[in-house]
Amino acid sequence: MGKVLIIGAGGVGTVVAHKVAELPEVFTEILLASRTKSKCDAIAARIGVDHLSTAQVNADNVPELVTLIRSFGPDIVINVALPYQDLTIMDACLEAGVSYLDTANYEPLDEAKFEYKWQWAYRKRFEDAGLTAILGCGFDPGVSGIYTAYAAKHHFDEIHYLDIVDCNAGNHGKAFATNFNPEINIREVTQKGKYWENGQWIYTEPHEIHRPLTYPRIGEKESYVIYHEELESLVLNYPTLKRARFWMTFGQEYLTHLRVIQNIGMAGIVPINYEGKEIVPIQFLKAVLPKPEELGENYTGETSIGCRIKGIKDGVEKTYYVYNNCSHEAAFAETGTQAISFTTGVPAMIGAKMFLEGKWKKPGVYNVEEFDPDPFMVDLNIYGLPWYELTNIDLEVD
Ligand code: NDP
Repeated sequence: MGKVLIIGAGGVGTVVAHKVAELPEVFTEILLASRTKSKCDAIAARIGVDHLSTAQVNADNVPELVTLIRSFGPDIVINVALPYQDLTIMDACLEAGVSYLDTANYEPLDEAKFEYKWQWAYRKRFEDAGLTAILGCGFDPGVSGIYTAYAAKHHFDEIHYLDIVDCNAGNHGKAFATNFNPEINIREVTQKGKYWENGQWIYTEPHEIHRPLTYPRIGEKESYVIYHEELESLVLNYPTLKRARFWMTFGQEYLTHLRVIQNIGMAGIVPINYEGKEIVPIQFLKAVLPKPEELGENYTGETSIGCRIKGIKDGVEKTYYVYNNCSHEAAFAETGTQAISFTTGVPAMIGAKMFLEGKWKKPGVYNVEEFDPDPFMVDLNIYGLPWYELTNIDLEVD
């Protein structure tokens, strides 16, 4: 059906490569490219299929990207490098005439700021070029938006309250580690809290709002309101929302480590001079922390991520909870990575499949909830992220 170029060979790239390689009838030829080619080669060796090859690329460099894209000629580029590379990869896609998909919105290197404005500014250029850009197609952002679109389409006439709940009840046995790129993760969870209420953003101190929430098959976990990027597009695409929030669970140990890291300046993103060499504290920290793609081996337990929604159907108030639980052990057995990488990589593969099958193909730049959720929801069940629904239950988030 089509050729795919995957950029990035970390935890998420590993899962995407595994999943696309399992579907040769859809992804006829695969090129896995990243800054460090040896990582691509190691992943390709583990997968062991003939239609997957590897390449080296610096995704900060547009001409280098264009040369690679032109030489391989993919139908779509799956960007699972870092958010810093989103714009250079989008520029290269436009120049080489290829469609685009990512799992995290662009962030400038020198400012921890999660906003779609930079990528939404590409709308007209993608439209004029007849190319599709699918933004935020991991789990959250990604499946969280698709769940919301599915709920709005099938379960409600109007959605009023949306609470995205993200629980990782896994145990990797390390004193401190992050489940995806440490730099991006720490930038995300140490920022101020922010949620949408009655037409405006409400700001909080980091982790100021918290309460225990009950997760299926897991039980009660302390959950914290943090800002998460999909809220920005969801409140625009669902203007009936009176409130939209994002909750994430954190263990006490994790929060204590995080506070120490911040207090001693290791979360800093401004370069400092160390013995004549410029280093960025958070990048140095990343180098000494456990690598997310290597956490999988002894990781036990599950993640549970879903949407709790309240709204109106046929004039009656209704509640709805749609979620997936993903086992770290099962993810590791299948792809050699933990559940966070798995829950991100599978939706990225499905998004690219939707594009190649013509189901999610329209010129322009779109967030996932702007496409038809139905075929995507079918594929989630087929490719390893089954979902479950509960209706008219206590959502605990009033
Ligand atoms: P990793 O740090 O494990 O992997 C990132 C990969 O990108 C590495 O292989 C790295 O290369 C490569 N890379 C970095 N910079 C460049 C560059 N300039 N040129 C080429 N390659 C580069 O991250 P993850 O796999 O954990 O995360 C990947 C993406 O997924 C991130 O954007 C993250 O924010 C997103 N994500 C989204 C989630 C969602 O649910 N939507 C959840 C989790 C993650 P090297 O090995 O040389 O460093």
